[in-house]
Amino acid sequence: MTRRKWMAGLAGGLPLLAQDKGCPLAVKDYQPQSTLHVPETNVPRACFPVIDSHVHLSTVVGRLMPSSDVPEKEGPDGPKAFSTSDPKDVLALMERRNVRMMVNVTGGYGPALNEVIDRWHKPYPGRFLVCVEPWWTRANEPGYAKFQAAETEKAARAGARGLKILKTLGLYLRENLTTGPLVKVDDPRFDPMWEAAGAHRLPVLIHVSDPESFFDPVDERNERYTALLRRPEWSFHGRDFPSDAELQAARDRVMARHPRTEFLILHFGNSANLGYMAEVLDRYPNATLEFGARLEEIGRQPRVTQRFFDRYQDRILFGTDAIIDMPEKVAGADRLYPTYFRFLETDDDYIPLSGVYWRIYGIKLPETILRKVYYQNAERLFRVS
Ligand SMILES: [Zn+2]
Repeated sequence: MTRRKWMAGLAGGLPLLAQDKGCPLAVKDYQPQSTLHVPETNVPRACFPVIDSHVHLSTVVGRLMPSSDVPEKEGPDGPKAFSTSDPKDVLALMERRNVRMMVNVTGGYGPALNEVIDRWHKPYPGRFLVCVEPWWTRANEPGYAKFQAAETEKAARAGARGLKILKTLGLYLRENLTTGPLVKVDDPRFDPMWEAAGAHRLPVLIHVSDPESFFDPVDERNERYTALLRRPEWSFHGRDFPSDAELQAARDRVMARHPRTEFLILHFGNSANLGYMAEVLDRYPNATLEFGARLEEIGRQPRVTQRFFDRYQDRILFGTDAIIDMPEKVAGADRLYPTYFRFLETDDDYIPLSGVYWRIYGIKLPETILRKVYYQNAERLFRVS
C-alpha cells in the first residue's frame, strides 16, 4: 500500500475506528496495552547504596527558562530559591530506595544558593550535595566574565560541589537575556567560569541540547510527536535555534579548551547515538556521562548499551533527573527509582516507562559494574567517600 493510500484510508476512518466513538482514534489517545506475558521483577531497592547524581531539590525564581511551575521574574531582592518539599520526606524516600546521597543540581546562585545550603545541606551532611548555577541574568553586563568566575569560587567556598549548566545555555540565553541572538555554548565570556570550576574542583554538570527529535519538524515522522503535541515548548525546530549537532560540537570545544575541568555530561549527552558518545569519551578524558531521564534512549538498544557500559564502566554515573522541589512531587520521584533499578539489575524484557509508550529492556549489569555506576564513579567525581 502506498503511503498516500494509507493516509487516505485513515482520513476515511477505515483502518482505525475507535469502537465506541465511531470516529478515527486521535494519535494522542492511542495507548496500547501490552499482551506479552514476560517476567516482571520488582526491584524496590537498589542492591547497593546509590548516589543519585541528578536530582532537583530546588530551583531559582527568574532562571530564564520557561516553566509552568516556577515564577519567571526575579524579585527586587535578587535571586530567591524555590524549594518547598520537606527534607524529611525526601530522606524517607531515600531510605525506601537505598539512595545514600542525592546531588541537588539546581542549587541556584548568589543568595538563593545560600538558602538552599541552609535548608538541605547543613542539617543533613553526607546526604545531599549541591551545585551552583551561573548567574545568567547578569550575563549581558560588562565585567560578567570576571564576576561569574568570582561567584563560582565563592560558591565553592560556601560548600557547592559542582557547577550545573541547564540547557538555558545554547537554547534560551540571549545577548539581551531574552531577546537578541542566542549566546553560544562556547562563548569566550564563560572561559573564566569553566577555569574557576576546574581550579576549585567543581565538576561541571552540563545539559546541552535535547533529544534529536526536538529539533526535527513536528510531523508524522517525529519520534516524539505526541510528547511535542503535549509540550510544544520542547520543540527547537526552525526559528533561530542551532542544530543538535552544532550544540554538541560547541560543548565538545569547551571540554577541549578546559582539560583540567571535569565535565559530567547529563542525559547521556541527549544523544541516542552511542557511537558518537563513545567518540566523545575517547577524545575527552575529562568527560563522564549520566543517564537521567534517558532510559527510553539507552533501554531501547540494550545490547549496544550493555557493551557501552562494559567498555566505559568507570565513566558512567547513576542519575534520575528526579524533580522534588515541591511536596506534591515526592511521590512521583519515589516511583521513578524501581524502573531504573530494574533496568540496571535485571534482564527483564519490555519494561514500561512512565510518560512514554516505548518499552525498554534490562541490561543486568554484573556486580562490579553496578557498584561503579551506583556509587563508586560518583564518589570519585564528587570526592566523597
Ligand atoms: Zn535535570
